[in-house]
Amino acid sequence: MRALIVLLAIVVPCQFAVVAQDVSRRAYEGPIIDMHLHAAHAGENGPPGSKLCPGSAADMRYDPREPWPETLGRIMTQAACARPVEAASTDAENRDETIAALARHKGRGVLSGERESLRDWMQAAPKGTFIPAQYLSLSAMARHSPDAIADAFDRGEIAVLSEVTIQYDGVFADDPRFEPYWAMAEAKDLPVGIDVGVGPPGSPMVFPDFRIQNPRHLEAVLARHPKLRVYAMHAGWPYVEDLKAMLYAWPQLMVDTGVLQAALTRKEYYRFLEEIVDAGFGDRIMFGSDQMNWPGLIDEGVAAINEAPFLTYAQKKAILHDNAARFLRLSETAP
Ligand SMILES: [Zn+2]
Repeated sequence: MRALIVLLAIVVPCQFAVVAQDVSRRAYEGPIIDMHLHAAHAGENGPPGSKLCPGSAADMRYDPREPWPETLGRIMTQAACARPVEAASTDAENRDETIAALARHKGRGVLSGERESLRDWMQAAPKGTFIPAQYLSLSAMARHSPDAIADAFDRGEIAVLSEVTIQYDGVFADDPRFEPYWAMAEAKDLPVGIDVGVGPPGSPMVFPDFRIQNPRHLEAVLARHPKLRVYAMHAGWPYVEDLKAMLYAWPQLMVDTGVLQAALTRKEYYRFLEEIVDAGFGDRIMFGSDQMNWPGLIDEGVAAINEAPFLTYAQKKAILHDNAARFLRLSETAP
């Protein structure tokens, strides 16, 4: 009780210094920070020109007599919706339309990829557009040791370690094989973004070792490495209860909204997002588009946040910019 009284004595006078927040529902018009971009190829997820209907991934009328990738391909190309997101036709178009989309939102983004693709995309974009990030799968770990990643970070070639996709090989965040990377990231103060939750629909029928990852696999990691700067990509959907427990217990943990604007029905995305915001964790959510080969995912993702009926202007601005600027310790401030 004594500790609580001391705490109140500190907190109460500070209330007078709180700056009024904009509680209107108007749209936030930038600049944005996109925490989840990929320097990907145009044909990486089905044929170039395929279309994505937001929410269509939940369409699961599936007969296992047909291989799942064929069914998924049909769902993605038939695109029976009013506003499909179209895939880029060429690698250059994918890169240039991603750069143009960020420019429309006065934005920048964390770009995940291998070093060669990162260099190509960064050369094509205005300076500062991309924050380079090392992509890391289980097989890529053989090529990128913790020491090699630390050296690349020291040389300024990468600023973030993401997207860590080890769950596609059935390896979770607290697996001993990944521990040396966590230790290195904490020692170097290198931010890490890791997939948590689910992957594409029917993931194990495309990636046989893929396993769903509960956000609580980050608990042992954070217990061992409390100074780690880590964000759960895809916000760990659908584990909202476990996520709230983790955000509460580990105030350094952040999440990004990558792909949720496309993979989920809008109603489900909003229900999930609103629950996190209502629980008081609005300052822990960072916008991510998960743009792979659909540059329109950036506009769609920003619009989804701006059209969320339960978010105030201040909350939209926090999600679309301020939380990521704080997490990445960027020096500039939003207007
Ligand atoms: Zn991704």
